[in-house]
Amino acid sequence: MALLIKGARVLLPGGDIHRPPACDVLLHGDRIAAIGPALEAPPDAEIIDGASKLLIPGLVSAHYHSYDTLLKGRFEDMPFDVWALHSQPAYWGKRSREELRARTLLGAMEALRNGITTIQDMNSLVPQDEETLDIILGAYAELGIRVVFSIAVRDLPDLDIAPFLPEISPEIAAIVGGKPGDPAADLAFVAAQLKRLSPLPPRLHWALSPSGPQRSSTALLEGIAALSADHGLPVFTHVYETRAQLAKARRIYPGGSMIAHIAEVGLLTPRTTLAHAVYISPEEIAQVARAGAGVVHNPLANLKLKNGVAPVSRFKVEGVRLALGCDNNSCSDCQNLFQAMKLMCLLAAGNDPNPAGVLAEDALAAATTGGAQAVGLRAEIGAIAVGRKADLVLIDLDDLAWQPFASATRQLVFSETGRGVQTVIVDGRVVLRDGRLTTVDEAEFRAELAEVMEKVERDYAQLIARQAPAIPALLEANRRVAEAQSRGSGA
Ligand SMILES: [Zn+2]
Repeated sequence: MALLIKGARVLLPGGDIHRPPACDVLLHGDRIAAIGPALEAPPDAEIIDGASKLLIPGLVSAHYHSYDTLLKGRFEDMPFDVWALHSQPAYWGKRSREELRARTLLGAMEALRNGITTIQDMNSLVPQDEETLDIILGAYAELGIRVVFSIAVRDLPDLDIAPFLPEISPEIAAIVGGKPGDPAADLAFVAAQLKRLSPLPPRLHWALSPSGPQRSSTALLEGIAALSADHGLPVFTHVYETRAQLAKARRIYPGGSMIAHIAEVGLLTPRTTLAHAVYISPEEIAQVARAGAGVVHNPLANLKLKNGVAPVSRFKVEGVRLALGCDNNSCSDCQNLFQAMKLMCLLAAGNDPNPAGVLAEDALAAATTGGAQAVGLRAEIGAIAVGRKADLVLIDLDDLAWQPFASATRQLVFSETGRGVQTVIVDGRVVLRDGRLTTVDEAEFRAELAEVMEKVERDYAQLIARQAPAIPALLEANRRVAEAQSRGSGA
């Protein structure tokens, strides 16, 4: 099957990033076959008129969790650990097949609608079994988005903030505590899935994820490092997302460095990407750069959960490769990289009145080539070039965000909201046409979602009541950690 996109302005690698000229792009099957002026359409080709459109590579959201998409719009003004107590799947228990499917589709549908063609879903399976995994992967395959999926594992159950809790009652300890896991069982499950689902169906890819170094034993981290080396798989893990994680790292690691610990267990490699890295030190940033590891920046979640601002201009100066993510729907409330790109540039001015060197082109690179590299698909996606996978987005330049037209890259980052995303192609297949998804009946989906939400609402009310007694202790710990850090004593 061939598809010819005629006469769109096309953002090409090395081309004019502000006023790219119009040309034609021919797709054959799942790949880009030719790029040039006035290409001949093969007889069976579908033709998409690209006049007044901008063609960009599909965006890559390199940090996301699909398990709480149904909790969009629920939470506000909550520090990280309080939010975690409400959003983490362990507190919700087993969900129905219908709910697993609906939540997986919902986040991915919104991503596609906003021009995201690849998501990295770091997913905690509850229960951790093949049935749960297969329902989630099945929903992704049905929708047609590209997914780099990792089974999130942890064997240390404590909340990150646990060491800083005030004296707590057994009742509250029961709420915030958990049972330690078995690293050997976790590693065996992950290894078994890599073997059972090999190769994965088209558009699905594997990655590996210890949830966070401080949530994982050395045995678990070393086991993940070995799987990554054996299978050549990318690794994503949460690092220095919160002040409490920083304080805990100073306490539990020799020398106090989470980055040194990751290096010691064999996980600081070019295949590894660290989510957040808000509280990473200048020395640690240099170490990450030397190792060829990367960072996935999540400005929406970092702000919503009161974690602060990652040192993005420093990452750029040190040459750390950067990707962008939208993170959970329960803390960013959207799957929209236009918001993340804009914040990436604007936050650089948060406390520095001087030029920071974080430009629209850096944000767009993080959302395309940077993301592609992070998810291990550097040669396949992230750019419009002959031979690459046909993951493409057509943006409507007649939209008011683009009037008058001055710069493709700056208006993508500073003006576009997602409203102009008109057509989205993944693996050569049109999955969004003129703003409508082609692989899902959206009205039918809304009806299914409404049914699923009846139980979610009941469970949500119970969960809120069950967790409430622990909140004062968590807020007190949060206050202590922040106060100690502002005094410079590190907690
Ligand atoms: Zn995350």
